[in-house]
Amino acid sequence: MTIFEKIIAREIPGDILHEDNDCIAFRDIDPQAPIHVLIVPKKVIPRVGEAEISDQQTLGHLLLVAGKVASELGVNSSDEGFRIVINNGKNGCESVPHLHIHLLAGKQLKWPPG
Ligand code: AMP
Repeated sequence: MTIFEKIIAREIPGDILHEDNDCIAFRDIDPQAPIHVLIVPKKVIPRVGEAEISDQQTLGHLLLVAGKVASELGVNSSDEGFRIVINNGKNGCESVPHLHIHLLAGKQLKWPPG
């Protein structure tokens, strides 16, 4: 069971900002920006590179929820803004093998990423 499944099952605490039938969003425990939220599908897809056609609706839903959470946190504007990141595998710095979107905001982020 991944750590994210445990948060979904309320076996460990999470600072939850959104939940619906298909996903959950909670604050990252080790934030890399003033706003750092993870949007996680309830279905365990290990990483985006292993998603299947049948996951298409879920993948789109995660992006829409990221936008909704960004709105609720007051950063969904061109003046403010946010970044969405999906880490995949070793070189992508994935550490939890349960697909998730990072929503980062609240400061000027650098480009290109490291
Ligand atoms: P990644 O490195 O892309 O796999 O992202 C995993 C993220 O999960 C990291 O940013 C961690 O800080 C975060 N994380 C790990 N454990 C927890 C937890 N219990 N609650 C919230 N976030 C967590």
